[in-house]
Amino acid sequence: MERYWNEEIETMSREDMKKLQDERLVKQVRHVYDNVKYYRDLMDEKGVKPEDIKSTDDLCKLPFLSKSDLRDAYPYGLLAKPLSECVRIQSTSGTTGRRVVAFYTQNDIDLWEDCCARAITAAGGTNEDVCQVCYGYGLFTGGPGLNGGSHKVGCLTLPMSSGNTERQITFMRDLGSTILCCTPSYAAYIGETLHDMGFTTDDIKLKAGIFGAEPWTEEMRRSIEKSLGIKAYDIYGLTETSGPGVSFECSEQTGMHINEDHFIPEIINPDTGEVLPDGEVGELVFTSITKEAFPLLRYRTRDLCVLSRKKCSCGRTLIKMSKPKGRSDDMMIIRGVNVFPSQIETVLIEQGYSPNYLIEVDRVNNSDTLDVSVEMNPDQLSDKVKDMQQQERDLAAAIRLMIGISPKVHLVTPKSITRSEGKAVRVIDKRKLHD
Ligand code: ADP
Ligand code: ZN
Repeated sequence: MERYWNEEIETMSREDMKKLQDERLVKQVRHVYDNVKYYRDLMDEKGVKPEDIKSTDDLCKLPFLSKSDLRDAYPYGLLAKPLSECVRIQSTSGTTGRRVVAFYTQNDIDLWEDCCARAITAAGGTNEDVCQVCYGYGLFTGGPGLNGGSHKVGCLTLPMSSGNTERQITFMRDLGSTILCCTPSYAAYIGETLHDMGFTTDDIKLKAGIFGAEPWTEEMRRSIEKSLGIKAYDIYGLTETSGPGVSFECSEQTGMHINEDHFIPEIINPDTGEVLPDGEVGELVFTSITKEAFPLLRYRTRDLCVLSRKKCSCGRTLIKMSKPKGRSDDMMIIRGVNVFPSQIETVLIEQGYSPNYLIEVDRVNNSDTLDVSVEMNPDQLSDKVKDMQQQERDLAAAIRLMIGISPKVHLVTPKSITRSEGKAVRVIDKRKLHD
């Protein structure tokens, strides 16, 4: 039986949800206009007044906010509440440049943790569970968000943070952890370490994993599910919108339900800003309608995905977003062809290689080069150079079939690629260093 954290909201009729969003949006636009000069100036520039926004149908009249606005307004420029009412900051991982700082009132923290509680419940979590949180704690939102959600659900919470992987496994075994929360790349590493320590899935009690904060493929999901003996659920979020829990997966595992009572999603054409219909791939934009301290309206996430209103077998009526393919700025343009790291990951795992790989892009004599190093599994090692070369050629051909250009493949020995304990770095684009 499907469990809900907040059944009323999660299974609300579309009509009622729209009504709720309309009310909250109108209030939020007024709050932002009155309290955030930076956004008021943007609205004035566009000639939009708060009274022009009467419902979600008017959302498209509002100006967008982008990461560069957040950087311009750093640190306090987008704050909508007096500091005396703010109780916390969190900050982005800085994956793509200068960090962004987000602010929370106590109410903001409560709502955020509530979103994470929905995710844990959708993954089957109850107060009988032992929830091991191995996302980083501190400025990064992963640890604090899932930690708070786990408390709300009433799980026994293990605030492990990331790193010290053998100790993670010792705790997991000794305390009988049933739910694991971390990045997918760290989950893969924990699985590998478990087996290296001589244990099998029979030696642990894990049943579910809640993994997110970075892109991961379906192939990666199956590989982690097998190595840890669990069902792996995706969770999505970003610091700017509070953190993990903006959307979460249910038992159907075909996309993540967006907590629409807090965040209104739109998909736009990233080049023109035009709003696209459900079902088309584009950049995801969020308007937070309940956040008090740092309420971003029409925030461009740069994440590319698709929205779907198809009925879900779990009973939730919340709209679903597909796994983000990656950020628009993760996309590599190699010899004029658009390539996502996730496409390469799909081929590697499908072909039986480990999920440990590194993609290097460079420019030599004005031509782009693509090198993919991937670790072999121990059973793929061969003494014969000829065999190895053939394997490399086969893998290069399979990647070419997927992305349209031919990489140079390097099969490397097991354990030679650095493991990730947080967000994995899979791509080194040396072209940027020459520019
Ligand atoms: P940074 O932008 O510095 O990495 P955050 O830690 O706030 O800061 O990361 C948010 C970003 O992480 C999202 O915009 C998205 O690109 C990525 N992300 C988060 N969850 C997922 C997920 N489940 N699948 C794919 N990407 C994700
Ligand atoms: Zn569902």
